[in-house]
Formats: sequence, structure tokens, C-alpha cells
Amino acid sequence: MLLLKSLRQEIVDHGVRLVEFGLVKGRAGNISALDAESGYLAISPSRMYYNRISPKDIVILDKDGNIIDGKQKPSSEFNSHLAIYQQRFDVHSIIHTHSPSAIAFSLIGKEVDLSAFSENLVEQKTIPIVPKALPGTNELANHLRLVFQNPKINVCLISGHGVFVVGSTVSIALARACFVEEALQALIFSKILQLQ
Ligand SMILES: [Zn+2]
Repeated sequence: MLLLKSLRQEIVDHGVRLVEFGLVKGRAGNISALDAESGYLAISPSRMYYNRISPKDIVILDKDGNIIDGKQKPSSEFNSHLAIYQQRFDVHSIIHTHSPSAIAFSLIGKEVDLSAFSENLVEQKTIPIVPKALPGTNELANHLRLVFQNPKINVCLISGHGVFVVGSTVSIALARACFVEEALQALIFSKILQLQ
């Protein structure tokens, strides 16, 4: 019997949606969910295509990052996921992507104003941005730990890299990741229109 089988299946299903919704290309990005009862984390494996992942490929980690179950290597960003869960007891899922509009804004290096949107699934008026740090490093995990300490932050850009989104469920985190990409793309289009 596979440990946390239904949580693993949820990661698999939502990972495929990340690709279908255009938020992830190839093997980029990662997705995790927390099992509140055990405190274990289920996270996507490193360097596997989302449409090839099955529940047994999802890696189960404890809160210190030790592998409890799974034969694959966990995503190299697992320490950033652990750092965020340590700060936020309301968060049960985290999605990290390199979605195109998020990367475009991350290259500008400024926080993004969302106040023009009448519907706002991330429930914050601006998207903060953390400084550039190499993927998978403690430096990046510490930047994210600091920004997500604020309980009102559900999304954050990483300079020159991509975006982290959190939610109380995997579905909510995915809906927010979709909203952020749509909103940032709309801002790009509106800036182009303003040039005319
Ligand atoms: Zn990344």
C-alpha cells in the first residue's frame, strides 16, 4: 500500500494540469501538498515530465526534508517548500512555475500592482518580489520564508526566475497560479495597448 496514496494522486493530476494550462513547459516547476495529520510533504520528483509521473514517483518527505517514501529524487526546490510550510499553518499546497508572464515580470525586478483587477483570486493588491538566488539553495528558501511570513501573501515572484503560489488546497493553489499568469499576461497586453 502506497503511503499517502490519494495526496500523491492529487499531485499527479494537478501536475498534468500545470502543463495543460500552459503554466509549465517540459520538466520545469514543482508542486507539493502537506498531509496535516502526519506533517509529511508530498512533492513532485526532480527532472520528470508531468505526463509521465505516477503516484509512486511522488516523493514523501518529513518536515526536515528526510525521504520517508519514494524512489525518485524530490524536486530540487523542496527546501523552499519546507521553509514556506514552516511559516504558514494555513498553507497545505505550494506551486512553483516558470510561467511566461511571471518570468517577464520577474525580469523587471519590481513588485506588481494588481489593484486594477476587480476579481482577484490571490487576495493581495501587490505581488512582492524576492531577490535573485540560485534555485534549490538555502538563500532562496530564506528569501521565501521571509516573504511568506506575512499571512496575507499568497503569491510571490523571484527575481529572474518565476513565481511561488500557495493555497489551503492543491486546487486553490492551482486556481491562484492560473489567475496570476492570466493577470500578468493581461498587464503586458494593456501596457502594449497604452503605447499606441
Ligand atoms: Zn524554478
